[in-house]
Amino acid sequence: MQEQLPRSGSFAYRTVIAPGNYSHSLRPWRSDVGKERRFKIYSSMMYTDRLFFIIGIETMEEHFAKIIEAVGEDLNREGLLDTPKRAAKAFKFLNNGYEKTLEEVLNGAIFSADTEDMVIVKDIELYSLCEHHLLPFIGKCHVGYLPRGKVMGLSKVARVIDMYARRLQIQEKLTKQIADAIELATGARGVAVVIEAKHLCMMMRGVEKQNSVMTTSVMTGVFRKEISTRSEFLNLINR
Ligand SMILES: [Zn+2]
Repeated sequence: MQEQLPRSGSFAYRTVIAPGNYSHSLRPWRSDVGKERRFKIYSSMMYTDRLFFIIGIETMEEHFAKIIEAVGEDLNREGLLDTPKRAAKAFKFLNNGYEKTLEEVLNGAIFSADTEDMVIVKDIELYSLCEHHLLPFIGKCHVGYLPRGKVMGLSKVARVIDMYARRLQIQEKLTKQIADAIELATGARGVAVVIEAKHLCMMMRGVEKQNSVMTTSVMTGVFRKEISTRSEFLNLINR
């Protein structure tokens, strides 16, 4: 087991990269023991791609307060009084995918079905945060798979997307994670995922291009091997 103990400002948190099952205690870093424990832990343990970490929401509030001051604002201004708290809550919500596991999200909603025909769920709304600028990227996700005796509940497709989208992301990785999860959950003969999204980091800053849409796709199994299957999927989502 590898351990990293990153520090930032007044708080310390612990990141443990564990190779498999986890057992982990909630404990501030040693040098902080004895100090005032501002470290109130809202979310106890979170699991994400074999990465565990802990975030105190109060700590997050303090940091948001500093950011607001740093842009030259007055924290005592009426409209801003509760902003650090609200921002912390919002940011926590937008990243709540870290608190979920695929197993919990699916909650057993994988059903036997004797269909072999393509299942497509298209135009699923997608909201995520780019990991480079912490700005949103917003768009649509289209998912297709070729079942091999098992299908997944329709709403679960959307939940799987949210689980990965509500993390700090890059669109390419998000697309791959969704495809892998659906393949893992259903044992499908092939999975296709396409995401089309607009990135606010490109629209509001940087090159300020308002209308560019980034498209990423991941095709596995039959979708990758057979052009006709791939085209059928692409035709159906473009309709
Ligand atoms: Zn960005």
